[in-house]
Amino acid sequence: MIDFHCHLDLYPNAEQVVEDCRNRGIYVLSVTTTPSAWKGTSALAGDASRIRTALGLHPQLAHERLSELPLFDQLLPQAHYVGEIGLDGASEFRQHWSSQVTVFEHILAKCSEAGGRVMTLHSRRASRAVLDRLESFPDAGIPILHWFSGSFRDLDRAIQLGCWFSVGPAMLRSDRGRTIAKHLPRGRVLTESDGPFAHMQGKPLMPGQVELAIVELSRIWSLPCDEVVNMLRQNLTNLSSGGLKEKSKDSLDKGVT
Ligand code: MN
Repeated sequence: MIDFHCHLDLYPNAEQVVEDCRNRGIYVLSVTTTPSAWKGTSALAGDASRIRTALGLHPQLAHERLSELPLFDQLLPQAHYVGEIGLDGASEFRQHWSSQVTVFEHILAKCSEAGGRVMTLHSRRASRAVLDRLESFPDAGIPILHWFSGSFRDLDRAIQLGCWFSVGPAMLRSDRGRTIAKHLPRGRVLTESDGPFAHMQGKPLMPGQVELAIVELSRIWSLPCDEVVNMLRQNLTNLSSGGLKEKSKDSLDKGVT
């Protein structure tokens, strides 16, 4: 199982969640919301071979954490994965739009200079603006739009731009989320929980619950679950071998069998 967007450090029982991921052999991209969280969150994963920690600065925190950009730059050489980054156009965050753009463009520029990174992106109510920036920074790396909820026009554009997509149980609960999933290029899809932010039946989603997304994708794509699992695993391998100028020894698919 693959959870390509999970906030491991934000679970109240984070160490137990990590232990569960290890025991079940789940591949996890553990994303952070601030550069200052990266070291501690990396330490939380310890030597788990299937967990990688992404360096991020969440758009909802951009205005409060502008001062952490130098730390981001300092840590970037050590981080093969970047996220959570992006833009959020919802009304409560719109007032901080200019800080969000400053942070996002800064990070894309630094990723470009560093030879590209695999990036997990937030684009709530801002998909067009996110795609505009990705187009302006074509060398920033491989963008993965997490929980995409934009228009079909933006979806087509994202596909043209080479974006990948991570989908989870919360996204696939809605008709619209399922319709989007149906239109995704299957070779560029991964699963995610987005826990503990994303909920299911009033409880934070756990990494292992990406199983629910696999079941749903199997219905949407009319494929048996084991074929969906194989496809997702192959996608993870392809992602790591696909297109970054600077190859890293630290890719998450190490040990995919
Ligand atoms: Mn998230």
